[in-house]
Order: sequence, then C-alpha cells, then structure tokens
Amino acid sequence: MGEGSVINLHTHSTFSDGVFGADRIVEKAATDGLTHIAITDHFATTKVCSLQEGEFEDYLETIRHLGRKYDGTIGVLVGVEVDANPDRTDLENLPIDFLNKLDIVLFEHVNERANGGADLRTVGRIASELSVPCGLAHSDLETAFDGLRPSEVAEELASLGLFVELNTASPYKRGGIAYFERAEEIIRSFRGLVKISVGTDAHRILSEVSNVGGAYAFVRRIDMIDDLLF
Ligand SMILES: [Zn+2]
Repeated sequence: MGEGSVINLHTHSTFSDGVFGADRIVEKAATDGLTHIAITDHFATTKVCSLQEGEFEDYLETIRHLGRKYDGTIGVLVGVEVDANPDRTDLENLPIDFLNKLDIVLFEHVNERANGGADLRTVGRIASELSVPCGLAHSDLETAFDGLRPSEVAEELASLGLFVELNTASPYKRGGIAYFERAEEIIRSFRGLVKISVGTDAHRILSEVSNVGGAYAFVRRIDMIDDLLF
C-alpha cells in the first residue's frame, strides 16, 4: 500500500482532549482528500483528559457509524493512544478485548526516560497480546534508541511487529527539525522491515487534520511510499 493513499492515523476528538467532535474531523479529512483518517483518543491516562472504560462502547459506535456514513469516500479508523508511562496508565491491566476491537493502537513515550515511558520490550510484550496494528507515536527515534545502530533499531522493531509514526505536529521537533527528519538514517533502515505511518496529532486546529504534506514529502524523498501502513 501507500501509492494513492493519503493517511492521517493520529487525531484527538472530544472523547479526550480534542476540541472537535469526531464527525468534524472526518468531514474535514474527507473534504481535504485524505483516503484514511484515524481517531486515536488518549486512553485512560492521568496525563490529560482521556477516554475512560465506561465510554468504550459509545466511542466505538460513534466512530464506526462515521465509517459507515463515509463508506466509499474515506476510510475511517478507530484507535487509541496509550501513554506508556506506568505511573499514569495501568499498563498491566489494559482491556485487551476492547483494544482488539480497534483498528490501530498507538503507544506514546516508549523508551523516553524524560517522560517516564516504559521500554520497548515492555510495550512489545503488551502489543504481542493485541491483534491490531500497534506502533510508536511521535517517537524521537534518535534519542529513544540512542546507542543502537539504525539496522539494530529496525531489527528490534521488526521483531516486535511495531510500526513507527512520522508525526508532523509542532511539539515533536528538536532544534526546529521534526523528529522523523532528524532520524532519516534510522527510518531508511526500516525499508521492507518496519511499517511507517503518518499522524498529525490534531487537537485544536481543524486544518491540522490534513497537515500531512511534510511527512509525505519526506517519505517520497526517501522513496518509502510502499512502506506506509496504508
Ligand atoms: Zn496524540
């Protein structure tokens, strides 16, 4: 996949800390010509307002309904973003059955010591219980995998079956350069081994729903369109 697709697999709605309902996000994505949009609200973390257990069914049904409404126009995926910090999320008791009803699960702060994130092996063990695609959100790969060669990062991620998201949001930069651009050498080593995704982390600005151009320009430049998740 990849050629002909325009994906944004990371957005937040009013089910967590976003300001727009999922309907507005999907409508915007369809209007702007995306082929796939995922709603990935924060899941049961104390870090921010997030999806709680009592809301699971409503969340699933709301977004599945949008999927049916937009069938043939845009693919609508439902996912969550799991905070890998065990002090903020009960990682050992995740509702696996619910997560397996989703289309995608993102893990943030993996291997990020500054954010108290669990290490990659811990997240990989959780992901191994899931039958849906799991990946790392907005990872600062250079820092998170400091000390490993690019090929070692790729092998490690491939062995755990995790994809890696290229996130275009402004917080995910160092020295004014997006994490994914900094990590070009690492991402090049993913070719054929580790899938890549594109996400914008839209929360409060509707135009961010389709702010995927920078990531797509990067993916085309390194000739890895075929390595995209969709
Ligand atoms: Zn997010």
